[in-house]
Amino acid sequence: MLPIRPHLSAMRPYSPGKPIEEVQREFGLTRVIKLASNENPLGPSPLAIAAVEQAAREMHIYPDASSYRLVQAIAERYAVPADQVLFGNGSDELIHYLGLIFLNGPEDEMIVGDPSFVRYDASAQVVGAKLVKVPLDADLRHDLTAMAAAVTERTRMIWIANPNNPTGTIVTRAEIDTLLANTPAHVVVVLDEAYAEYAADEPDYATSLDYLATERVVGLRTFSKAYGLAGIRVGFGFAPPAVVDAFQRVREPFNVNSLAQAAAIAALGDREHLAAGVKMNRESAAALMEAFRAVGAKPVASFANFVCADMGQPGEPIFRELLKRGVIVRSGHVLGLPNYLRVSCGTLAEVQEFASALREVMSLATA
Ligand code: PMP
Repeated sequence: MLPIRPHLSAMRPYSPGKPIEEVQREFGLTRVIKLASNENPLGPSPLAIAAVEQAAREMHIYPDASSYRLVQAIAERYAVPADQVLFGNGSDELIHYLGLIFLNGPEDEMIVGDPSFVRYDASAQVVGAKLVKVPLDADLRHDLTAMAAAVTERTRMIWIANPNNPTGTIVTRAEIDTLLANTPAHVVVVLDEAYAEYAADEPDYATSLDYLATERVVGLRTFSKAYGLAGIRVGFGFAPPAVVDAFQRVREPFNVNSLAQAAAIAALGDREHLAAGVKMNRESAAALMEAFRAVGAKPVASFANFVCADMGQPGEPIFRELLKRGVIVRSGHVLGLPNYLRVSCGTLAEVQEFASALREVMSLATA
């Protein structure tokens, strides 16, 4: 027997949205649209494309290990000190590091919402820490009262995706305030704000930037969603200096590659592109909600770039029928919501294609 750490057997490999080519092969289709991975249908900023083309000429040189210019650009844009900025190969990498930074092993506990983003689980499982899952409330929102009640002296971290994936729901400033007031100072609260740009206009929406002074809140952000850079992998975050110091010890030396650094810096500078994507998302989300309502499904009001809907029946067969018609979405059964589908806000044209495929599939179901 090889000495593979036994608790790793509790972990499941991440199951990503189905790739377009796989569906083309499997069903012999030429036209396939993917509304499964919450990508930005507007694509990357032209400035980011140009920056990557330029940086490609230097790809024989190691990247700047400290991501200096990227960190400065983030610090400036978000008005935070540079020693409070985290950066990673996607926020996925930062999620992993936060587990390594805060959790010792089986004696430590970590609280997550259920369902929420599955990668949090892995960050506890990799060190063998105890995962405490607190169900979302009846409106599929994080139940911060129940999460606070689940805290014990062994709790090290509480994870809140705000907006949440897969539900698209948010928690309010007042709820976060109460959570912080009702939990001990040694408990770290991680606000994963991968979809923050889509919720920013909500009056009740607060972010980690509002709580940095508490010295126990860590915020996570990403270039994969509103900034349109999912393929090149850059995540970032805001944290107390002591956490950034621990991160500097734990992280891979060149964790953001040189093309990614260049792309992210350029994307940060293109505010117009960001605003255009957010606007497009709003229209697309409204159209998606309508498409669901038109077939009698119940969409959850979303503050992100996807819509999750209660289909009133298992989502998996609907997902499969949509696949046959060249539309890839996410089946709720892999996300902990068996009667739901989660559909990313594509272009309006893609949403229309989804809507007509859904109508066809749902009429089969009732025929
Ligand atoms: N957090 C949440 C809530 C997400 O939905 C995602 C993307 N699926 C991530 C983090 C990871 O994003 P990335 O690694 O691309 O930054």
